[in-house]
Amino acid sequence: MSKVKAVAAGIWWVGGGSWGGLTEVLSDEGSGNVFLIGGQGEYALIDAGMPDGAAAVLANAAVAGARPADIKRIIVTHCHHDHLAGAPELKRRTGAAVAASELAARALGGDAEARKRLFIRDGATLEVEQVLADGDQVALGPYAFTAMLTPGHIPDAVTLTGDVEGQKVVLTGDTAIGDQGPAKGVVGWLDGHWGSNPKHLLRSIERISQCQADLLLPGHGFPIQGAEKVRQSLEHCAERLRQLLAIPDLGTMMPLDLAD
Ligand SMILES: [Zn+2]
Repeated sequence: MSKVKAVAAGIWWVGGGSWGGLTEVLSDEGSGNVFLIGGQGEYALIDAGMPDGAAAVLANAAVAGARPADIKRIIVTHCHHDHLAGAPELKRRTGAAVAASELAARALGGDAEARKRLFIRDGATLEVEQVLADGDQVALGPYAFTAMLTPGHIPDAVTLTGDVEGQKVVLTGDTAIGDQGPAKGVVGWLDGHWGSNPKHLLRSIERISQCQADLLLPGHGFPIQGAEKVRQSLEHCAERLRQLLAIPDLGTMMPLDLAD
């Protein structure tokens, strides 16, 4: 049975796991959130989830009105398995073009150095048709979004922002997950092995805050709706990072790269 949640005009939540029991499983348990944006026969998927969830993602997208051939683009927010492992299968079934940051594109294309840096040890390669630099435009269906490079959770992370039917939307992946139930200001897991950097993450979150979005679509957990809730969530994320960075011996506690 398909499960799809309409988030706002032109936006559907079509895939994802429960994230430890917080949300409903929409595609398969191992997947990060997958969103569908678009209309009038032109749609884009934001992230791809895991391969086991690909069929469910497409079934959910069909309920929202997007046939596989209507899905023209797949955005990879960052090179973590739970967000992109399903992309080759979704690309094969839809013919969609993949868009990702330059670092992600190099890693996904098989560049050994980039793969090592992002802790990608195995798995198939994925051709990226649109390489996103900071400030680049990318079409999500009929809507023009702007790419913002937002390293911190992982160096290759990209955030997209744009207007959908009068709402300012920001797609943050794991860079900012925000207030989720009792947990305030959640950010994606930080791990020095895949290049997390809390200073870079704080800077990225401050940039995302400047977008003053009405709707934040994170890589896990619930969408955050309303300009004030989005603002609070991002402020809580920033506070969390400032507290982490205030720990004087952080560098000896975690294998994090604290340079610059
Ligand atoms: Zn991640």
